[in-house]
Amino acid sequence: MKFYSLNNSNVQASFKEAVIAGIAPDKGLYFPEEIRPLSTEFFENIDSYSNHEIAFKAIHQFVSADIPDQVLKEIIENVLDFNFPVVEIEENVATLELFHGPTMAFKDVGARFMANCLGYFSKGENNEVTVLVATSGDTGGAVANGFLGVKGVNVVILYPSGKVSDIQEKQLTTLGQNIVAMEVNGTFDDCQRMVKNAFLDTKITDQRKLTSANSINIARWLPQLFYFLFAYKQAKQEGKEIIFSVPSGNFGNICAGIVAQELGMPVKHFIASTNANTVVPNFMKNGVYEPMPSIATISNAMDVGDPSNFIRIRHLYQDDFSTIKKNLSSYSFSDDATKSTMKEIYSKSGYVTDPHGAVGYLGLKEYQKSNPDVYGIFLETAHPVKFLDVVEDTLGLSPEIPPQIQKVMGKEKKSIKINSYEGLKSYLMDS
Ligand SMILES: *Cc1c(COP(=O)(O)O)cnc(C)c1O
Repeated sequence: MKFYSLNNSNVQASFKEAVIAGIAPDKGLYFPEEIRPLSTEFFENIDSYSNHEIAFKAIHQFVSADIPDQVLKEIIENVLDFNFPVVEIEENVATLELFHGPTMAFKDVGARFMANCLGYFSKGENNEVTVLVATSGDTGGAVANGFLGVKGVNVVILYPSGKVSDIQEKQLTTLGQNIVAMEVNGTFDDCQRMVKNAFLDTKITDQRKLTSANSINIARWLPQLFYFLFAYKQAKQEGKEIIFSVPSGNFGNICAGIVAQELGMPVKHFIASTNANTVVPNFMKNGVYEPMPSIATISNAMDVGDPSNFIRIRHLYQDDFSTIKKNLSSYSFSDDATKSTMKEIYSKSGYVTDPHGAVGYLGLKEYQKSNPDVYGIFLETAHPVKFLDVVEDTLGLSPEIPPQIQKVMGKEKKSIKINSYEGLKSYLMDS
């Protein structure tokens, strides 16, 4: 299958080319030329398939021209070696726990899938690829972990000094091998700007093949559709219409859910739940997309003022406002509402949510006010321990530190400190 640029459908690439390049030469996001629905038989009998079989069927059409079936099966087995349970916490309200992977954030699946694809594509090539990525927290750890030890691929992660949590910093600075962490004296926006400059800097790109590992890359974005199928498999027996509420920042995850819908998965509605960053909730009111500077919140993995994947969602719904509205609602919630909801959920059901999951829960409840009979699933995108300070302050309890986090806590941090773009440039030119 080919992928075309959303800026110009004549600009096309194979899966392999699109994964290696990240973004199209005209700076458009890549998009699959078609999405062929899976059979109704498959959705009716989905509970008789294993997660590996489901994932294989769902992603096969997109990658099969470049990845042989046997290799794809192995990749899927490597990537999906943990569970995705749907946990019911109230009548008609359940959470899909996406945090059982190695870094306890949902980004593990996309990062691992992309790493496995790039690893496969760089076999037999002598030109190494450098993955360059800026992180405000969770992306860095998932990417570092996913790419660790992948031959032919080097990873450089930029993060803002002092602005990620201790756990997040350990996850991206202690692995070594092919993973380099650059600690930037600045903000996340500064890190992102440096990464963008490097991609445009021909002195660097003449010498080094660069790619990005954020959700604009199709190999990180598309496999996220697996979650929705796994949730559907578990919730189908309820016999009700299903809705998903997705805590959203760059809108890659929810957009992958919409691809699952295009594949034929029965779903009544999607809810994009956001914090104080209201670009999409505003769009849903008046159809005007107006990016704004990002606002810092306690659900900081969603502090995005210009969500890069929203253009893919518009395209999936033919950029037709009434089709978008029929399928998608979007609500925004304050930090105060998020905290009181974390308390309320805990006191009602004993369930501990992280701030992102709590925003998802709020969006779900908002929709159910006028649609009380639907079965709602909100995505729990990170383990509460990843946002320890907020959880401790709000709930007055300390979640137990899981083994995969304990493992990195004692390790020594190694980072390269940089103050400006020149620091990144000289590293990329000279190392
Ligand atoms: C990245 C992230 C999100 C936002 O996901 P998008 O695909 O960017 O919308 C939500 N929650 C957590 C914990 C994250 O790390």
